[in-house]
Amino acid sequence: MRTKRRITIWRGLLSALSIILLIGTLNACGKQESTYAGSPLADAQAQDSREEADLAVHYLDVGQGSAALLESDGHYVLIDGGVNEYSSFVVSYLKKQGVETLDYVVITHYDADHLAGVIGVLHQFSVNQVLSADYEADTKLYRSYTEIMEERSVREQHPRIGETYTFGSALIRITGPVKYDYEDENDNSVSAVVSAGSNKFFFGGDMGEASETDVLEEGVDVEADVYLVNHHGSDTATTEAFLEAVAPSAAVISCGSGNSYGHPKEAVLERLSEQGAEVYRTDIQGTLIARSDGREIIFDQKPDKAETDANQAGAAGEETREYILNTNTKKFHLPDCGSVKDMKEKNKRSFVGSRQEVLDEGYSPCGNCRP
Ligand SMILES: [Zn+2]
Ligand SMILES: [Zn+2]
Repeated sequence: MRTKRRITIWRGLLSALSIILLIGTLNACGKQESTYAGSPLADAQAQDSREEADLAVHYLDVGQGSAALLESDGHYVLIDGGVNEYSSFVVSYLKKQGVETLDYVVITHYDADHLAGVIGVLHQFSVNQVLSADYEADTKLYRSYTEIMEERSVREQHPRIGETYTFGSALIRITGPVKYDYEDENDNSVSAVVSAGSNKFFFGGDMGEASETDVLEEGVDVEADVYLVNHHGSDTATTEAFLEAVAPSAAVISCGSGNSYGHPKEAVLERLSEQGAEVYRTDIQGTLIARSDGREIIFDQKPDKAETDANQAGAAGEETREYILNTNTKKFHLPDCGSVKDMKEKNKRSFVGSRQEVLDEGYSPCGNCRP
């Protein structure tokens, strides 16, 4: 007994020491990477597995859609596949990563911006099991999905809250929905917390307020270090109560540059900043990769806010020049940006001033021309 206890304390000391050493190393290199440590409670629970854990989450830039590739010890999982236009990008990205077989493909719901890319993946890779929402959609896309599933004889399961699935040293725990017959199909989205050691990532598809509220009422633990923002940053999702329950250190928004929905909504960005979550955006930063060793998470890029701050601090922020504003999407562009040609005349406005003045008007920079 006594020996056992001593070992535990010694272990605790050792890991505390290694964290101090690690911080020291980072400081010594002068690096400012964005790292997020898991909560101490989860740390204790995951004490035995954390040294071994390994998970990489690739938030793919699939325009106005969502797709994430997860890898742990050579095992792969795809959560949604993005819009049709990015289907071949998703396939080639997976091939570049060396994917041959996917342990699981999670289809949160059957809207085209999540399902379309999955069909391409089912054609190109072997898939052990699909975990999908338990409803049927009355669309051509859904029918081609059921056809390829039959053709490939892929096992399909509609997961329920509390069920778990492992891949490599990572674990998928289903957190929603509480039912599959919501009026708004978005609320039927399958949600899950994927964990590696003490690190956790939340995925909730397009679930909105109704589904978020029901999950909280059910008492499901949705806490996570990284929150993939529900419904691309729509303000019909990510309620204050839900965000408080997730309590993320970092948030990833998957949306398309200049999308017609105006995602992400300012109200959601404000809620995220109040929560203290650093924000990453595929529309501005492209594909993002977060790696966890079971103890801390490191992103391959700095958060979007840091990028904006750095830009504002630079002299470029003061310079006066012409920008083209889209009064509908609230994005601003350089005059020669490709999106300017496609912009409706009634939404187009020329603005001469500094970058800061445009930002102060409530506009955000286009992800393509990066003004
Ligand atoms: Zn969507
Ligand atoms: Zn949707």
